[in-house]
Amino acid sequence: MAKIYYNKDADLKVLRGKQVAVIGYGIQGRAQSLNLRDSGVDVVLGLNLKDETWKRAKADKMKIMSVPEAVRSSDIVMMLIPDEVQKAVYDKDVGPNLKEGMVLDFAHGFNIHFKRIVPPRSVDVIMVAPKGPGALVRETYLAGIGVPALIAVHQDYSGKAKKCALAIAKGLKATTRGVIETTFAEETETDLFGEQVDLCGGASELIKKSFEVLVEAGYQPEIAYFEVLHELKLIIDLVQKGGIEGMWDGVSNTAEYGGRTRGPIIIDEYTKARMKAILKDIQSGKFAQEWVEEHRADMPTLTRLREQGEKEQIEVVGKQIRKMFE
Ligand code: NAD
Ligand code: MG
Repeated sequence: MAKIYYNKDADLKVLRGKQVAVIGYGIQGRAQSLNLRDSGVDVVLGLNLKDETWKRAKADKMKIMSVPEAVRSSDIVMMLIPDEVQKAVYDKDVGPNLKEGMVLDFAHGFNIHFKRIVPPRSVDVIMVAPKGPGALVRETYLAGIGVPALIAVHQDYSGKAKKCALAIAKGLKATTRGVIETTFAEETETDLFGEQVDLCGGASELIKKSFEVLVEAGYQPEIAYFEVLHELKLIIDLVQKGGIEGMWDGVSNTAEYGGRTRGPIIIDEYTKARMKAILKDIQSGKFAQEWVEEHRADMPTLTRLREQGEKEQIEVVGKQIRKMFE
């Protein structure tokens, strides 16, 4: 079982007298920098682009610098820009300005784990990854409860890397809920696996194929949409609250009997074998390489898949149905 850290295990004093540079003011950057600032941490932003997030930072009265300036004047650097652009920004503006004893923090392990970013030996490399989207990271902070987080240490030059990760987690209020220690490898590989197989990839295809089967059999698309897409959240809410057995308690006996006997026919041993193959590609770095190349080529596949997705019947019907809930 994993060890869980709470408030008593973390000390905000570790951050006293230190300046934290948050690179990026997007989904995580804004939430994390506001939380740390409100926890009494000295935060400056490193922003290169004068985009919407820059305007937002201005409006929030944050201290803004260029990325090189922010890195040069800080002790801790938090890389909170999209994973695909981190390497370029690191190579140009972050890496060259790191000094011995500094701390480099990530919210996801991708670039370190797949060695796209290789920091010097003389800095600590840590991860603090809140297990929730940015908006929730901020809302729950304001409500005094925080969201749980993962921490990891990739490189411990100072001997105090874990203490620093725990202090940042406390500054975000994650230790109020509980913080689990992981590794960059485990976080990165399980995160990619989850989003490909289960959460985003698997769930969306399950919905789409179920919808197609009903519509092809002559049922009205609106009814099919309600059944296979809209209701999924209600079931998942039950699963999240009480586990899979708790969900069975919350549905009818008919649903339980049908689900328990038919579920394993749909998701079977062959599906599991394909899941394992996908995990292999993640572990070997094959997926990471493919994604980096896709990004480098200006995302031709993703652009095509987005265009295709937009046109699908389930999207057209969905737009109409969702209006009923506005
Ligand atoms: P985001 O897309 O919201 O980041 C936007 C910010 O990055 C903006 O300030 C923008 O100006 C800046 N930016 C974009 N391109 C840039 C470039 N080329 N040069 C300089 N700055 C640039 O990012 P995010 O979703 O908050 O993700 C940040 C990190 O947090 C990632 O490592 C991600 O995996 C991780 N993470 C995100 C979430 C989430 O809720 N989105 C959850 C857990 C972990
Ligand atoms: Mg994830």
